Amino acid sequence: DPRQQPSETAPIKLRPEIANAAVYQQGRPAPEGGFKLSSNETPFPPLPSVVAAIEGAAETINRYPDSAARGLVRRLAAMHHVDESQVAVGPGSIAVLRQLVTAVAVSGDEVVYAWRSFEGYPSVMTLNGPTSVQVPLGADGRHDLDAMLEAITDRTRAVLLCSPNNPTGTVLTHDEVERFVASAPSDVLIVIDEAYLEFVRDEDAVDGLALIADHRNVVTLRTLSKAYGLAGLRAGYAIGDPAVIAAVRASGLPFELTTVTIEAAKAALDARDELDERIETIVRRRNGIEAGLIDQGWHVTPSQGNFVWLPTGDDTLRAAEILERHGIIARVFPEGIRVTVGERESVEPLLTATAEIVRGLE
Ligand code: PMP
Repeated sequence: DPRQQPSETAPIKLRPEIANAAVYQQGRPAPEGGFKLSSNETPFPPLPSVVAAIEGAAETINRYPDSAARGLVRRLAAMHHVDESQVAVGPGSIAVLRQLVTAVAVSGDEVVYAWRSFEGYPSVMTLNGPTSVQVPLGADGRHDLDAMLEAITDRTRAVLLCSPNNPTGTVLTHDEVERFVASAPSDVLIVIDEAYLEFVRDEDAVDGLALIADHRNVVTLRTLSKAYGLAGLRAGYAIGDPAVIAAVRASGLPFELTTVTIEAAKAALDARDELDERIETIVRRRNGIEAGLIDQGWHVTPSQGNFVWLPTGDDTLRAAEILERHGIIARVFPEGIRVTVGERESVEPLLTATAEIVRGLE
């Protein structure tokens, strides 16, 4: 694991936390004839209308982009029925999250989030300085909201709630998040990371946008990397109170979104009907994979994302080897494996591999 290697001695004085920082590890490319199911990307090729928008934008790249990406902000605000002052965009939702954290927390402050959750969270804290307060997930793979509430101290500046949670796929219910927000201090930022929102079919799941009207400290974080299929272009956004959003904007650098990204994002938002069909296909495929896993005897936590979670525990390395033997590159964690719902052709080798894995599990 390259992340574990001690860094070389640098010729300059580095911040120690940077010198020792983990570099984000990207999944390996798919083997010949296999499938890369390690980054929760869409298996579908870019829409022709998006490609056309990129080609159109290419003709203007001698000019700087609109620094505030106003056209995209306007489009997102209209789509979500909020004011333009309530939307901040950035190069990926991870970058927007970093801006949120920049706006509220410095070294010595604390940010509370569930663990295991998205690997980007600890990286943002390392870069920005606040201490990560990681609250273990419950046995059901869900956030332990009571424990998270108890973890809030005078130093807490933000709480991150991830629904559906990456990598377990579990959602928080609207009622429980509403209770959480009502009990948490109203001057602590609460980020609801809804990167996989478009794949949620559980009607009780939290709707971050609906909480914003009544709670000025709540922000919902969204991305165009998953359902919208623009992972390679980098576009994400936050919606919240205008004063919070102004601070998020102030925490970013100018010109962070390229002209190409802005135009492609607008085209993707315009193509929501076409994308809805693709999203529905992924949801059906996910549900089919989960039904297959349950038939095989897996104890799966129902996933509402575009991925499934295999709780392989101590058998994780053996399980990852079996998946690889069947041509599947998944994301391997110490306690389990996350597999993206990918190409139709990937389902059969996946379920063949999981049948072999489950036979060896306790
Ligand atoms: N939040 C969650 C929960 C994620 O899983 C991811 C991507 N894996 C992100 C945020 C970041 O996505 P992006 O920066 O591509 O918008």
